[in-house]
Amino acid sequence: MHLIVAEKNISARRIAEILGEGKKITEHRDAGVSTYSFGDVVTVGLRGHVVEIDFEPGYQNWRSEEYTPRSLIDAKTIKVPTEKKIVSLLQKLARKADRVTIATDFDTEGELIGKEAFELVRDVNKKVPVDRARFSAITKGELVHAFANTTELDFALAAAGEARQSIDLMWGASLTRFISLAARRGGQNILSVGRVQSPTLCMIVDREKEIEAFVPEKYWQLALETEKAGERIEARHTHGRFHDKAEAEGARDRTREPLVVTDVKEGTKQDRAPSPFDTTTFIVAAARLGLSAANAMRIAEDLYMNGFISYPRTDNTVYPASLDIAGILKTLRNSPFKKDVEWTLANRRPVPTRGKKLTTDHPPIHPTGAATREQLGDDAFRVYELVLRRFLATLAPDAMWNTLKILFVAGGEEYTTTGGQLLEPGWHAVYPFSEAKEVLLPVFSAGEKLPVKMVSLDEKETQPPARYTQSKLIQRMEELGLGTKSTRHEVIAKLVSRKYIEGNPLRPTLVGRVVTESLEQHADTVTRPDMTQKIEAHMQQIKESRRTREDVIRESREMLHAAFDQLEKNEQVIGDDIRNRTAEEMNLGKCPVCGGMLAIKHLRGNTQFIGCSHYPDCSFNIGLPMAQWGFAVRTDDICDKHHLNFVRLVRKGARPWDIGCPLCHHIDSNRESLSEIPSMTPALAGNILAHHIYTVAELARSMPEDLVKRLMIPQADAVRLVTDAGSVLEKLRRRSECRKFLRERLIPRKGRSYAKIMDCLKAQGITELAGLARAEPAALKSAGIGDAEADQVLAEAKTVYYGQVLRGMGIPAVSLKKYLSAGFTTPDAFCELAPETLSERTGMSLGTVQKHVAMVCKALDKPAPKKVSKLQTEKGRKELLTIKGLGEQAAGKLILAGVTDGKSLMAADPEIVAGNTGIPEQKIRDYQAIFKKKKDIIQL
Ligand SMILES: [Zn+2]
Ligand SMILES: [Zn+2]
Repeated sequence: MHLIVAEKNISARRIAEILGEGKKITEHRDAGVSTYSFGDVVTVGLRGHVVEIDFEPGYQNWRSEEYTPRSLIDAKTIKVPTEKKIVSLLQKLARKADRVTIATDFDTEGELIGKEAFELVRDVNKKVPVDRARFSAITKGELVHAFANTTELDFALAAAGEARQSIDLMWGASLTRFISLAARRGGQNILSVGRVQSPTLCMIVDREKEIEAFVPEKYWQLALETEKAGERIEARHTHGRFHDKAEAEGARDRTREPLVVTDVKEGTKQDRAPSPFDTTTFIVAAARLGLSAANAMRIAEDLYMNGFISYPRTDNTVYPASLDIAGILKTLRNSPFKKDVEWTLANRRPVPTRGKKLTTDHPPIHPTGAATREQLGDDAFRVYELVLRRFLATLAPDAMWNTLKILFVAGGEEYTTTGGQLLEPGWHAVYPFSEAKEVLLPVFSAGEKLPVKMVSLDEKETQPPARYTQSKLIQRMEELGLGTKSTRHEVIAKLVSRKYIEGNPLRPTLVGRVVTESLEQHADTVTRPDMTQKIEAHMQQIKESRRTREDVIRESREMLHAAFDQLEKNEQVIGDDIRNRTAEEMNLGKCPVCGGMLAIKHLRGNTQFIGCSHYPDCSFNIGLPMAQWGFAVRTDDICDKHHLNFVRLVRKGARPWDIGCPLCHHIDSNRESLSEIPSMTPALAGNILAHHIYTVAELARSMPEDLVKRLMIPQADAVRLVTDAGSVLEKLRRRSECRKFLRERLIPRKGRSYAKIMDCLKAQGITELAGLARAEPAALKSAGIGDAEADQVLAEAKTVYYGQVLRGMGIPAVSLKKYLSAGFTTPDAFCELAPETLSERTGMSLGTVQKHVAMVCKALDKPAPKKVSKLQTEKGRKELLTIKGLGEQAAGKLILAGVTDGKSLMAADPEIVAGNTGIPEQKIRDYQAIFKKKKDIIQL
């Protein structure tokens, strides 16, 4: 069997469809992973990397004394499978294969993924020949050629990829840990540092500093308006910007009619057709369509997988000689751009344009198949059209412009105006994404005199440099050698998700800035692009087999150790600096109670809340949902009423949850519970808010005397308010306990939220555990909970609730545990069952059990079961055995359940006894009937 390993499932399927054309292709699914087979060939797709490198066990504990952040630099790494199902399927297939072809993407990353697959294959099959197919587009021509001309895996290229992985892990993990620990940050709050990420962030921070430091300068621009053939024409003063106002005003005042044409310069300008797309120029062009870099790449990869465009990760801007341009044009005639293709064919330039970068791995991005809007959807079609039109433009002739420059003089002051006319549209005919604006001028001749309609002097200011847009940043990263064509857009997305940068154009957040400045000050190798450039150069040397992976990693280790020498020396300073400077980003504004500073506080264990800087003198605080629902951050909005910054909960991969003004939110979310206080009136509610009492708990904690003074209400009202608040608080506590109970047990599913379940239960009067413990399964079912789950939840509710009740009645926790695990959940069981039963099933002594039974029965105000002597028991037992059909075994069960003789049998509730003994209810009714008959006879 010939096994073909592709980078992704979709490419495995496309390869099977193309190579197996005309044959029957069968899809098999094995543990959720698909394979496609035709004839003797099986294709399988990976999910990119199916293994990852990680440190050896022991390094996971951040606070370990032994494994310090620095120790990560020299830590040994291991490969761990991340996609276990794919790994095991791949190995299963490899055992049976007699040829394996690696057909992953054709670049460093793809070669490394291929090498990982190779190693997994070798683990289970030492002998099978493994070869490599390389192609830049998933099209028939490319695939057939690639599979007919397979080569060896390029281990040097893969080693470069591996070195990058190791170095990235080493830098990222050790520095992230060091900085986070120094700043005492953990959990979702860690400060990440990375080899490419940090210098990139530094560029954004530097730009922001330039903008802040920028002092605008005033300048003046002088222009005039004249008229020819009824058309208004503007001419600018040839001096350009005037930096001296008096000078500009002088020039303005000297400008007099007539305006004389002194020279007319006519010329032509060639407007070169654009060069082919590499990744960066593609991302820049896609940004003009409104697509972010990450989005543009995602769509392009999709188009590649489906055979519509070539591999989108490329640095090449020169079409290779082998590229079948005529063939591609022929294919594209079947696309909706037939007309443009035919125009290009008719007007084709002799040689396609070429850019500055020539590499041999992939051709520039170009279309490979015909697609329609219906097939692709709007966004993907826009990207496809862009790639297709760019391809046509590179084959189209240059455009030709007629240019015109007119020079004037008026009162000795020189002015000029320029015009341009598109003589030959050339490539603009097929590529509308680049503007070609014509400025048409009337005909002028030297010596001609014209009127001056208006002279205008504009005062302007110099502008600071612009912030980076995503595409500008990617261009700049490329110039500096930061990252690769495959990773640049991912690095930017990471900086955004780590809350280091925001907005478009991009600007740093306070944390982003503080971390960068701290690193710059104490270990600038981490933030300067030089280090990363050096490593990129080393990668290149590995690819060319001029250096070994180990050698490069060793050098990187040395660089990192040197950085740590500086960092460790300054740990305290760095930590304090980051902590002090970032504290500000959590400040929200003035505390309504005392005027202190309210700030978001994050504690360990996901707790977060808003507290006052004057704590403990001021205990004002506002609770927030746990951090797993979103990490609380401040936003720039400010509440008109309370002058506090808004709060937002952000969670990776979820839409942010806007809390808004925390005080408005606090008041709103307490309104309902306050209104549950029976003595609460609207006037009183307004009164307490005005005096900064927001919650039931605050009222319940208050001293009535204080309320009398603060709220100016009578003593009796204050006492009542505090007592009422106390009982409402208790009720709220029980409700929240019930909610928590359900939340811990029910997993949210589609169409079933906690809120929905709570509402449904509330409608049935169930808001507390007590209600839940007594509820019927039907009540839960109507809330959308399945049979088995409902039964289990109810059983647990009984255990928890009655457990609390029994504890309250004085049963010690240790004994309680024994009762509950023996199945005695309700207090009633204590009064209904014989203590002997409880004793036998729990293994506790009879004396102890009797003591407990007495406590429970007293609390329930029920009579305790009578103590029965051994002799009496024996007598009762004999009496029971006289009943026909009632044997030794049943008698034993009945006695343990408190039915000790004929009399107690007659008094018992058959349903309860059945439940306690396991004897069917009907049988017990039968025993009762037989015994009654017998007694009647005797009495007769
Ligand atoms: Zn306060
Ligand atoms: Zn507010």
